Amino acid sequence: MSAKITFYSGVGSVTGANFLLELGKTRILVDCGLIQGDRVAMKENRNPFEYDPASIDMLFVTHAHLDHVGRIPKLVKDGLKGSIYSTLETRALAELILEDAVGLLAKEALVEGILPMYDMEDMKKAFSLWKTIPYHTETNFESENFSIYLKDAGHILGSSMFQFSYDNKKIIFTGDLGNSPTPLLKDTEAVTGANFMIMESVYGDRNHEPKNERREKLQKVIEETITKNGTLIIPAFSIERTQVILYEINKLVESKMIPSVPVYVDSPLAIKVTDVYKESENLFNEKAQVEIKAGDDVFNFPKLFFTDSASSSREIDHAKSPKIIIAGSGMSVGGRVIHHEEKYLPDARNTVLLVGYQTLGSIGRRLMDGAKKISIHGNEVQVKARIDSILGYSSHKDSDHLVEFVSTAQESLKQVFVLMGEPKASTFLAQRINNEVGVKATYPDRGVPYELK
Ligand SMILES: [Zn+2]
Repeated sequence: MSAKITFYSGVGSVTGANFLLELGKTRILVDCGLIQGDRVAMKENRNPFEYDPASIDMLFVTHAHLDHVGRIPKLVKDGLKGSIYSTLETRALAELILEDAVGLLAKEALVEGILPMYDMEDMKKAFSLWKTIPYHTETNFESENFSIYLKDAGHILGSSMFQFSYDNKKIIFTGDLGNSPTPLLKDTEAVTGANFMIMESVYGDRNHEPKNERREKLQKVIEETITKNGTLIIPAFSIERTQVILYEINKLVESKMIPSVPVYVDSPLAIKVTDVYKESENLFNEKAQVEIKAGDDVFNFPKLFFTDSASSSREIDHAKSPKIIIAGSGMSVGGRVIHHEEKYLPDARNTVLLVGYQTLGSIGRRLMDGAKKISIHGNEVQVKARIDSILGYSSHKDSDHLVEFVSTAQESLKQVFVLMGEPKASTFLAQRINNEVGVKATYPDRGVPYELK
């Protein structure tokens, strides 16, 4: 059976993953993500797909981040009839993420005076096609002559690597790869026996700060803000980062490493996602599972408040400091965190703690780069608060660990395709894999079919 792969987006950019695998006559898509970034990138999402969605037999989804699922309702709107497959947890999280996206797209459409890219109806149709498959079970697609096996990628809850087997050959799509070991999730599983690998490279050219320092640093920042009687703001992504930070604060509070102060999770989406996490403890790592079995509610501790409604969110301002506010978005582009930044940035007693990647042009990035004043809602805001960051909580493997990950599969690998990173990161990683692992690594061209032989 012939095998061919074409990378439609997610090449030379972190976001917008969308790959077409053709096994014989079967046309398989892996991920259909939103292209994120500046306005030009946002417009690109509205362009027609470069293939006919109606010609696609099935879509496999590695995980629920918007840059991997964000264009699925558009794909359905434009003609997809085939089934969509993912883990149960990815499906549950994608439902929350896409519902949120429908709201954001409707707002954007109103401002621009255009029709939204898709609406709730398209989203519902997508979920009527969406089936779930478990980890660690060979699922056979007999009439198409291939099978699929899911391994844990350790990136966010439900994240999986997809291994396609046909004619005694194996192709693996990594999706995004977790920064293992992480506080909550299981480690990324090793890959053996794969002949072709399609892998991510967000941090292909950089290494993270050591992981063992992250909790101590978090403790120190919290303590110092409390001592100043200030407010600590932590902009956090709704999936994974919010739950990890909650888990860490739970640990610090219960072991009395920090004084007990009010902690607010101020994001309706993050609150719903946390509920999905609570139902999926079986996917946590052993340490976390043992703690839960021993009776610890790892996402709950005294003085923790989930502020779902807009009115309860506003009440946070009236609560006395010291206090901690965890809110989205993670890069301070929209979301409730911006209101808090507007209020708390001008006071030197407060701290904004950045715990994730901050894209160029975002408020988060400008704070990280040391801006002394920023514009929020058209107002000039003085930055007197302390700005700090902990990058050890990243949910992606760094350069050294990506190389190490590929090394474990070195024996059977014929070729690695390096994607889902800025060009500099992808090409650097491809070079490292060529030189250090001795496997042919390719930074592919967009829209060009590659024969897998
Ligand atoms: Zn991701």
